[in-house]
Amino acid sequence: MIPIAKPLIGQEEIRGVIDVLQSGTIAEGPKVKEFEEAFASYIGTKHAVAVNSGTAALHVALLARDIGPGDEVIVPPFTFIATANAVLFAGARPVFADVEPDTFNIDPGEIEKKITRRTRAIIPVDLYGHPARMDEIMEIAQRHRLSVIEDACQAHGAALRGRKCGSFDVGCFSFYPTKNMTTSEGGIITTDDAAVAGRARMIRSHGSKVRYYHEMLGYNLRMTDISAAIGLAQLKHVDQYDDARIANAMRLNERLSGVKGIITPAIADGCRHVFHQYTLRITPEFGMTRDQLIKKLSDAGIGSAVYYPVPVHLQTFYRSLGYDERMPVSEMLAKEVISLPVHPSVTPEEIDLIADTIRRR
Ligand SMILES: *Cc1c(COP(=O)(O)O)cnc(C)c1O
Repeated sequence: MIPIAKPLIGQEEIRGVIDVLQSGTIAEGPKVKEFEEAFASYIGTKHAVAVNSGTAALHVALLARDIGPGDEVIVPPFTFIATANAVLFAGARPVFADVEPDTFNIDPGEIEKKITRRTRAIIPVDLYGHPARMDEIMEIAQRHRLSVIEDACQAHGAALRGRKCGSFDVGCFSFYPTKNMTTSEGGIITTDDAAVAGRARMIRSHGSKVRYYHEMLGYNLRMTDISAAIGLAQLKHVDQYDDARIANAMRLNERLSGVKGIITPAIADGCRHVFHQYTLRITPEFGMTRDQLIKKLSDAGIGSAVYYPVPVHLQTFYRSLGYDERMPVSEMLAKEVISLPVHPSVTPEEIDLIADTIRRR
């Protein structure tokens, strides 16, 4: 079976973890600090604050900008649920703005329509590794004095005109094993804003700067040195891993071009799309349903997945909160998308097998 995702763990990661275990400092310590400095320098921000998941990064980033009850935060409905849930954790209200059908990312025109007196922030998501329209989003945010908390959980190394995702205002990354780089579980906040970084450090550790002196309500959302050691090894290879994903995606785009009923992923001008997922749209002209294609691929030993079958605003929990607005593009995409394996372990021969299996429908 060609799996849809596979973490790459080498000798360096194993050695790093053993060294930490033998050092005696196995929770947050010097490796976390080293990882934060290395990741900040990789993204091109002054600060990085490591936490124990991408979800925690989003939660802490919102709290660090003092977003809470009475505030509204604009999010896309076509994303992993954590993007919107983090807003609820902070006590604020997620307001959905629909996405664009070509890049799958939040539509700046829809954002403008959703801004009210209560709006405090926008959370664009760089979905599947494709940068959101950060230039327009930053311009809207500056005009309305809003924070931009970029959910770059799928976009390690992605860039817009040479500027990395996560470097525009406040960036949030996940290091879950299926992402472009991993620390097992883990996450990080990147920013040039010293106040956000300082508050984030306190919020992740019980609201304290000095141990046992507490200045605000905080949590325990710390990363461990064991995770940071894995992250340090992974960070050395992330560009090469991204390049391998891009090469696989380009080969698949080429092999699938001209197939009726299949829309291959687009790359907007000036974007480095790092293909956390390679996601096709299957339209009725394809002559086979998405479920039938999934079965066919699976019979040929090819893993695939649907990210995401239900947009956030239609999830049972969100319906129970009273959300009932239509989001036509997100709802259409949820029915049409299918992701195929392009991670670095997939070979060119396997890419050809995937393409042939789809072509011989
Ligand atoms: C993975 C992911 C998250 C959450 O990250 P975790 O580390 O799993 O908590 C948030 N948003 C998006 C878009 C993600 O893909």
